[in-house]
Amino acid sequence: MALRLYNTLTRKKEDFVPLTDVVSCYACGPTVYNYAHIGNLRTYLFEDTLKRVLLYNQFKVKHVMNITDVGHLTSDADFGEDKLLLAALKENKTVWAIAEYYARAFQEDLRKLNILSPDLWCKATEHIKEQLELIERLEKKEFTYQAGGNVYFDTSKLDDYGKLAKLDLSAEQKHRVKKDPNKRNPHDFVLWFTKSKFKEQEMKWPSKYGEGYPGWHLECSAMSMKYLGEQFDIHCGGIDHIPIHHTNEIAQSEAATGKKPWVKYWLHGEFLVLEKDKMAKSAGNFITLSTLEEKGFSPLDYRYFCLGTHYRKPLVFSYEAMEGAKNSLSKLAAKILEIKESRGQSSDKLNNALVEGYSNRFLAEINNDLNTPLALATLWEVLKDEQIGNQEKYMLILDFDRVLGLGLKRLKKDKISQKVLDLAKAREEARKKKDWAKSDQLRDKIKELGFVVEDSKEGPRIKKIGRI
Ligand code: AMP
Ligand code: ZN
Repeated sequence: MALRLYNTLTRKKEDFVPLTDVVSCYACGPTVYNYAHIGNLRTYLFEDTLKRVLLYNQFKVKHVMNITDVGHLTSDADFGEDKLLLAALKENKTVWAIAEYYARAFQEDLRKLNILSPDLWCKATEHIKEQLELIERLEKKEFTYQAGGNVYFDTSKLDDYGKLAKLDLSAEQKHRVKKDPNKRNPHDFVLWFTKSKFKEQEMKWPSKYGEGYPGWHLECSAMSMKYLGEQFDIHCGGIDHIPIHHTNEIAQSEAATGKKPWVKYWLHGEFLVLEKDKMAKSAGNFITLSTLEEKGFSPLDYRYFCLGTHYRKPLVFSYEAMEGAKNSLSKLAAKILEIKESRGQSSDKLNNALVEGYSNRFLAEINNDLNTPLALATLWEVLKDEQIGNQEKYMLILDFDRVLGLGLKRLKKDKISQKVLDLAKAREEARKKKDWAKSDQLRDKIKELGFVVEDSKEGPRIKKIGRI
């Protein structure tokens, strides 16, 4: 069953055929000036599903992710301030300390979300040489010009600039205001900055163009080509990257190598949105994984929440919807534990045809452009199907979880002490008498002992804090 993926470049679902026997995949990583918000994390979860689906299809995968620790300005289109410098000023730390701290926090978020670690991490500041070499290559081919101290990429020299975003340049050129008077064309972008608005620019390197630092887009071209070759299979990120960042990455890479297409498949995840707004780190309206944890959600509740919507559809975040995801995952876990415990009993039925049917269906769903909502529904159907024995069910569940990544293999029944059980019983009695004050008091006592009680239609369920 062929894997089909939606390619932003062609706006079509296509059969996935890699260039070599190892799938080369580059994902634009975080700009480490703050914690990742859960919108960012939705994109990394989608990329993780993609990687897991590739592995499930028995492809070998080389997955590279960068860390942007220099050059990303508050506007993706080269104006504004350097995001890291602003954070350093605000927190009264060095930019290096800011980058180190938030990069670690990001990796910790990925771990908590059960996201498979990339095979290779690369930092922009550790690849300045490669970025300067790329500028020189572009300079030799006359794709660059210098103005006002900066080096620019001349987009008018490419005949297909903007093809990923399908930019209508004639209309755009008329209406787009040139915020930078040094630019020859409105879409031109900076490859090397030598001007900084800050007196104490800590991150700067010598170059023949003057002491300075790279433009944001350059790092992804330089590092992906270093580690994956001049042409590779997949490049992904959030949809916001289509019109500027990825468009400019394509421009400079194809201009430098002359090879087209630079990347065969472009995959983009839709945004997580708040009820009215998009979530943005800079707007200060962002929710982090820790915010969710403080409100009693586990990171895997969030993973489950994201799996419930296709990655190419916007996902509206609300705490009510999170509550729904949390309850579903909790029920799923309880059901799986039940199945696990009663595996291999003599009444176990064998039904290979049914099992194979579910297996094929699951594969068809995930291979149809990563349809995780349907795959989740199939998992639920398996759980409820009384025609299949528990042992087989359990095998199917673990197999599906290679893609879903909900950590279902690690589920364990919590050992609950008699004290917690007694408190929970007393709380239930208080609830029945509608003595809410006492019930809340008892809930707090249970919490102090490291457990939570969740009420559902099936009655209260006690679990360790942080467990699904
Ligand atoms: P940044 O750290 O700003 O470079 O963003 C990291 C990743 O998160 C990029 O792939 C963005 O496209 C993506 N992203 C940013 N905001 C959102 C959002 N609200 N929902 C989903 N993905 C997002
Ligand atoms: Zn990038």
